[in-house]
Amino acid sequence: MTVDERARSLLFLSRYFGTDQTAAFLKDTQAQCPGAGLPMIHSLIQGIYKPKDSPYVLSVWSRSAAGAREEAYPDTFEQGPNGTWDMRYAPMRGRLDVGVNKALFACMQDRVPILVIVTTKPPKTPGGARYRLLGLAIVAGYEPATRHFLLKGCTAAVADALRPATSSDVDLEEVDLRNGLILPFQVGEPRVRYVASRAAREQAFQRMVLEEYRHQCSVCQSMFLLREASETLVEAEAAHIIGVGQGGPDDPRNGLSLCRRHHWAFDRGLFCVTESLEVMVSPAVSRAKRERFDLEEYHQQALTPPTRSSCRPSLEAIDWHRQHVYRAS
Ligand SMILES: [Zn+2]
Repeated sequence: MTVDERARSLLFLSRYFGTDQTAAFLKDTQAQCPGAGLPMIHSLIQGIYKPKDSPYVLSVWSRSAAGAREEAYPDTFEQGPNGTWDMRYAPMRGRLDVGVNKALFACMQDRVPILVIVTTKPPKTPGGARYRLLGLAIVAGYEPATRHFLLKGCTAAVADALRPATSSDVDLEEVDLRNGLILPFQVGEPRVRYVASRAAREQAFQRMVLEEYRHQCSVCQSMFLLREASETLVEAEAAHIIGVGQGGPDDPRNGLSLCRRHHWAFDRGLFCVTESLEVMVSPAVSRAKRERFDLEEYHQQALTPPTRSSCRPSLEAIDWHRQHVYRAS
């Protein structure tokens, strides 16, 4: 596997960042997720996985970072400064200059990103084990005193390392946004993360949110999608729940897919969303002169949720909208 092929696979897999997957998804990737173009994401035999035909590690898996007790390999996960995340990852026992440990040092030296996986449901859980794809990290260093590799996610270096796989800034922005889904939702854009341009980031946000909601309005479920050779026409729009001008981030958890009518009504506070993701229509609507304007009939109706729970609207964002935009009387 060349570095370019690997970058393309990782770019494809970014749509699964922040989601929980089965062991089969990781071990039999060719069958479960053919688009990734990989035989296997991780063997789940030992923590560090290096494909036979590569000098680099493809992915690391941690049981202890998710809270499980695994004394031999005590890894830790924490939020880093400025919107990044850090994992301290224990090497394989034994010498550092051989085998998978050596391959992790190669990733460090050549700035080759690796996929980071944690157990979220251990193997004996009813319904089977689940593994969360946290995202991509750069091996930023090795700390001899504590015997840990320092893995850093959401840094500009991760996006830069994927450059061979795409010439599109929007793709790289999307990877960065997906890589951040495991961090708590945060108002205001973190400064040191990868931002090619404000426009590319906005486009990545639009594309991601619309895809998560299948190009449908999450209130009325209307949808229009026309894919032509030269252009794609989509009627729905990705609305920011907390407005961009108020520090609302281009985070999919700050987004809702809405048709133009309902986007307009949402931005003007004519309805809001409750914590259980139901539509709450403003009493102001009943005072308006209106004809064939469908809104009140959606009162107390559930919003269509995004495909992946990792992109569910943040409670902080919908609270903010209810307090600052919604017309409560
Ligand atoms: Zn609608």
